[in-house]
Amino acid sequence: MLPQLRVPQYKLTLPSTGKELTYRPFTVKEEKILLMALDEDDSSQIRALRQVIENCLFGAVNATKLPTFDIDYIWLKIRSKSIEEIVTIPFECRNKLPEGEKHKDPDGQEIDYCGNIVNVPVNLDLIETVKNPSNNPKIELQDGIGIVLKYPTFELFQKLGQLNEKDIDNSLEIILDCVEMIYDSTGAVYERENISRDELITFLESLSQVQFAKVLEFFETLPAVRHKVHFKCPKCKHEVDVVVEGTKSFLASDSATNHLGI
Ligand SMILES: [Zn+2]
Repeated sequence: MLPQLRVPQYKLTLPSTGKELTYRPFTVKEEKILLMALDEDDSSQIRALRQVIENCLFGAVNATKLPTFDIDYIWLKIRSKSIEEIVTIPFECRNKLPEGEKHKDPDGQEIDYCGNIVNVPVNLDLIETVKNPSNNPKIELQDGIGIVLKYPTFELFQKLGQLNEKDIDNSLEIILDCVEMIYDSTGAVYERENISRDELITFLESLSQVQFAKVLEFFETLPAVRHKVHFKCPKCKHEVDVVVEGTKSFLASDSATNHLGI
């Protein structure tokens, strides 16, 4: 029997619960799973990603039940140890030219800023998930009536991937899935499993624009991977700190994960 290779192990802290988990980089076998899924539809790609994440966490989590921002974070960490810790992100220098001055960018467009593209190295290991203080799952609607929401999970993302986007209102589908309960001023609580889909749609459709916006705000302020990057333009010497947010921003140049949609 051939000798077995030892796989390095690392620790990460799950953003949603603070629980510490052990993970390993993905191997050639798992890279193959990811690459093969690239030629298939969205739901196969999501399934492949789920499989690789669960393998690399030694089966300690059920990825479908995790919030999407946990998946984002875990993926960045696994990818960092599997492929490379440092990625380069191209930034365009937005330093304004002196008043009235203009020049042409490579496409021939007239611009009034520097426009130089600078590749800035970012260490994926240093990226953390940041919680937004205005992200509140309890939404007070009116006269003591309100909704309690929960984070969208990877399972929901999977479900949306299978739906025909033209036929369905995705944002409504997300909200329906994330309602945990509805409460009123008498202290009565209506748990999601005891509310029918139709009843819940009728309730949501009765919200005013302002109330609906409050519900949407929860989804717009979910925790997200975020990192401050120092940008320095060698052409005009402009220096600025840029905040990069969301997995896509960090891995846009990486075709494998880009296609996987997170
Ligand atoms: Zn510049």
